[in-house]
Amino acid sequence: MDSLRSLYQDLILDHGRRPRNFRALPDANHEVQGHNPLCGDRLTLSLNISDSDIIEDAAFQGSGCAISVASASMMTEMLKGKTVDEARALVSGFHALCTAAPSEPSAINSLDKKEKTRLEALSGVRHYPVRVKCAMLAWRALEAALNNNGEKNVKTE
Ligand code: ZN
Repeated sequence: MDSLRSLYQDLILDHGRRPRNFRALPDANHEVQGHNPLCGDRLTLSLNISDSDIIEDAAFQGSGCAISVASASMMTEMLKGKTVDEARALVSGFHALCTAAPSEPSAINSLDKKEKTRLEALSGVRHYPVRVKCAMLAWRALEAALNNNGEKNVKTE
């Protein structure tokens, strides 16, 4: 369990225990349900995206392991104020970090230091392939939300 414990860094524990933006978003115009059957993590991601493609608000609800909850918590914190294009770049950058396949210059490099530190902490899951699905759950939901052009309810499995 020691190696697994190193995965649960303080940051992840903190966000896992006290998730930010863990609430309903009644005026959401994008809503996606994500499910990770391997671990049992479930979440609903809600976004409010303005007509000018700015993410005005992001929130989530659901239940899952500390990694999936911490990932969703950190992700929703980062999204507020970002454009849809910036959010897409974050998804691909984070996916590259998690799968240890940094190819082209990652979107991660354009983040501020605090955001970068958080994503790097989360990407420690790449040593545990099963946990990558936990960490990616919220991000896959985000990707689906950004691609659905305003349709409110989408499911990812
Ligand atoms: Zn999980």
